[in-house]
Amino acid sequence: MSTAVVRNVTIQTGHLIGGAWVSSPETFETRSPMDWSTVLAEVSRGDATTADAAVAAAQDGFVAWSAYTPSERAEVLRRLADLIDARNDDIALVETIDMGFRHESMRERLVARGALNFRTYADIIERSGPAGEAEQWDAKNTSHTVIRMPAGPAVVITPWNAPFMLATWKLAPALAAGNSVLFKPAEWSPLSAALLAELTVEAGFPPGAFNLVQGIGSEVGAALVADDRVRRISFTGSPETARHIGKAAAENLVPFTAELGGKGPLVVFADSDLDLAVKRAAEQYEDSGQVCLAGTRLLVEESIADEFRAALEAATAAHVLGDPLDDATSVAPVVHPDHLDSIDGFVRRAEAAGDNIIRGGNKVDGSMHFELTLIEPASNDSEIVQREVFGPVLTFQTFADEAEAVALANSTSYGLSALIFTGSQERAERVGRAVRAGIIWVNTFLVRDLEAPFGGTGLSGIGREGGRYALEFHSDLKTLIIADGSTE
Ligand code: NAP
Ligand code: MG
Repeated sequence: MSTAVVRNVTIQTGHLIGGAWVSSPETFETRSPMDWSTVLAEVSRGDATTADAAVAAAQDGFVAWSAYTPSERAEVLRRLADLIDARNDDIALVETIDMGFRHESMRERLVARGALNFRTYADIIERSGPAGEAEQWDAKNTSHTVIRMPAGPAVVITPWNAPFMLATWKLAPALAAGNSVLFKPAEWSPLSAALLAELTVEAGFPPGAFNLVQGIGSEVGAALVADDRVRRISFTGSPETARHIGKAAAENLVPFTAELGGKGPLVVFADSDLDLAVKRAAEQYEDSGQVCLAGTRLLVEESIADEFRAALEAATAAHVLGDPLDDATSVAPVVHPDHLDSIDGFVRRAEAAGDNIIRGGNKVDGSMHFELTLIEPASNDSEIVQREVFGPVLTFQTFADEAEAVALANSTSYGLSALIFTGSQERAERVGRAVRAGIIWVNTFLVRDLEAPFGGTGLSGIGREGGRYALEFHSDLKTLIIADGSTE
């Protein structure tokens, strides 16, 4: 059993397989964007043998866990939620150090949401009947009962940004449905996953219901998704990886969901509350733009463009780039030097292509920050408009009327989120319905009832998670028809 200690918090660095911690001889390093010179932990680097053992354990775990009634499952999920709340400080601290998001938002928002994800799914399954009925009705002298059958072992693969919140969002419905899980977190931020795994043991899941496999995506991740004993794959990450996973899923005829990148428009009409629109636009920089839902394409009505830009500059200049553990910091650092290089590459190519860099545009010397950057593209076809940067880089474009705003909003291959600012309820309805994306926020951002569906269109993904949508993905529906005895 190997462990690492990060600021007095002891963290398992191995895999949790069948209820026991096991280590691999090979390891990979995780570092902190707060101090790149220090290795935080050497984490077990799983391989094909690890994946094989984990899937076998998940098969046993599935037999045990799927036999729990929904209310028995709900009880364990609620225990886990309580344990997450009790360890909020440790989880938030470790995750901030491991991946760099601001401690305040980890503490107040993201880790707390992790607990809420499990509570929400406990509530949802308890609302169904005692044996997982989804629906029941009488027809043709029979009773029809639709039952959700747990599907089997589910692989859950997550990206490095906001890892705890994202993982719990995906793990909660899989477990609530009665599936066992094989969880592979991202190699750049693997530590909070180990804390979660530890809490699942304390919460009392049967051995093998929750398995954590650490390692590299192209190694152990690929081995997990290729295993034909796996019955569901739930993935969040980039379109490139989704293509690999989709091929493996197709090979085994396994349903998979893919929550992918975004290039959300943030549309500001002249009739909007300008202070609110500017505030929300400047917020897109907060996690250094490492947020799939970010509205990174600013589309502003011509008549207010100058006023908006001046106000945005003032709001942007007020940001504090700094240590994510300091609550005065408003912009998190970038997760990894490779990712800083990737952001820089986008900006250098934009510059070379003739896009106008209005603000920022460079790495910040001596830190893992990239300057808060605003670019006026030479054309809507520019790479900087069309491709996800996943950094603190916003583009600025104007439109003449509503039709042009909608056309620009819909002009990329992505379709995850959109933000719209308008003072008109009629326009809110009209534009909200015309923009193609999985989630549209009008005069607000990031607020969402967890029962609502979540996912993207086009390059932003396949399938929907959230509420009963994720529960149905993780189940096989069965229709049980029983004659009522009045006919033969
Ligand atoms: P990524 O490179 O696609 O990696 C995501 C996960 O897949 C990681 O755990 C990775 O492991 C693993 N992986 C890589 N290759 C694999 C393979 N061949 N088989 C199985 N697993 C494999 O994405 P990322 O750079 O971590 O994350 C950023 C992306 O995620 C952005 O595009 C962002 O927009 C998107 N995202 C989407 C949402 C959403 O809900 N729609 C939310 C957050 C982020 P390694 O870490 O070892 O590479
Ligand atoms: Mg790290």
